[in-house]
Amino acid sequence: MANELNRNQAAFATRAVHVGQEPDPLTGAVIPPVYHATTFVQDGIGRSKGFDYSRSGNPTRNMLELCLADLEGAETAHVFPSGLSAAATLLEALPAGSSILAHHDLYGGVYRLLADVRPVTAGHRINFVDFSDIDALKQAVAAHRPSLLWFETPSNPTLRIVDLSAVARIGNEVNAITVCDSTFSSPAGQRPIEHGIHVVVHSATKMLNGHSDLLGGVVAVSATAPAGLAERIKYLQNALGAVMSPTDCALLHRSLKTLEIRSARQSASALSLATSLQRRADELRLDRVVYPGLESHPQHALAARQMFNFGCVISIELAGDIVRVERVLTATRYFRFAVSLGSVESLIQHPASLTHAAVPEDRRSATGIGPQLIRLSIGLEDPVDLEQDLVQALKIQS
Ligand code: PLP
Repeated sequence: MANELNRNQAAFATRAVHVGQEPDPLTGAVIPPVYHATTFVQDGIGRSKGFDYSRSGNPTRNMLELCLADLEGAETAHVFPSGLSAAATLLEALPAGSSILAHHDLYGGVYRLLADVRPVTAGHRINFVDFSDIDALKQAVAAHRPSLLWFETPSNPTLRIVDLSAVARIGNEVNAITVCDSTFSSPAGQRPIEHGIHVVVHSATKMLNGHSDLLGGVVAVSATAPAGLAERIKYLQNALGAVMSPTDCALLHRSLKTLEIRSARQSASALSLATSLQRRADELRLDRVVYPGLESHPQHALAARQMFNFGCVISIELAGDIVRVERVLTATRYFRFAVSLGSVESLIQHPASLTHAAVPEDRRSATGIGPQLIRLSIGLEDPVDLEQDLVQALKIQS
């Protein structure tokens, strides 16, 4: 597959449009065809055109993986049928009995995989600590001697920011693989590998695809990751059979072409909405507005240092009871009451009963996910319409 453009030659937005998207040499079609074939004719024993069976390799998937690796600054990227299957496949790279240290503040499904599934199926020993507290992280690393450090930044839904360079340094000191779930940002918003992180994972279902019409996951491996890890992920993708379909690969690749512009616009709208909500907090009966772009965010300076924009997610904590919370969730017109984030349409959801229901209640409240917390994902609608929509819902009296 021709790929004459790489990250040394052009800016992010240009590469997002062109990498892995050379015109079809046969017909001149500007967009390459989608290869739905499951099997490929062989020229002789040990002689092929680079493909034999679609689980092991597919031209449409290869084009997408090339583009994603380029945008993340990774050596390789592999795509999976969901974010969780990407995470599960990556964890298969760890020997049985390995010690894993994870951020205490993770998406509920990843928490379930780490805390409930892997200890039973692979004897993995899992411990949790607040990765935004670097001293606590160092102590936990010394105590548990982990082979792998797993964290999200910004975290879901409390939007804590983890210092990418500090975690990379700590991981390297003890030869642990560092894994950043960058779902809340995407490579248009932050690139953890540029800060020394070994592996980036994504739920491509979110910002990367951005249109709420496919599930997907990504594992991108840095050239500085422990030797053999990138090859191992490719091996495991085939061995476990967790591959994205060609149709979804083509859809996701199309979405990457608008990633930078979506990310910039969604983040700008989120910043303006968060600023306004914070200013009107008393009038709208809000106890807290959390957004990394606000100066009131405890890690605003760190976010400004390591992110290109602050992302599309805002969390708000409502004053009042659960009846009010439910009324707000169901009273908006443009914000749809549905899980997920990062899409062109704005969404509103309730982490305690939905995305983080798999997290035990005591752990949820320790990380700040109470029943009053609402998560907003800001889409591409006009920000004035979005603000009016939310404000009318927040102003409804009981
Ligand atoms: N990581 C994060 C931060 C998420 O928010 C999610 C899903 O919401 C996942 C991973 C899992 O991804 P998927 O739903 O695509 O399996």
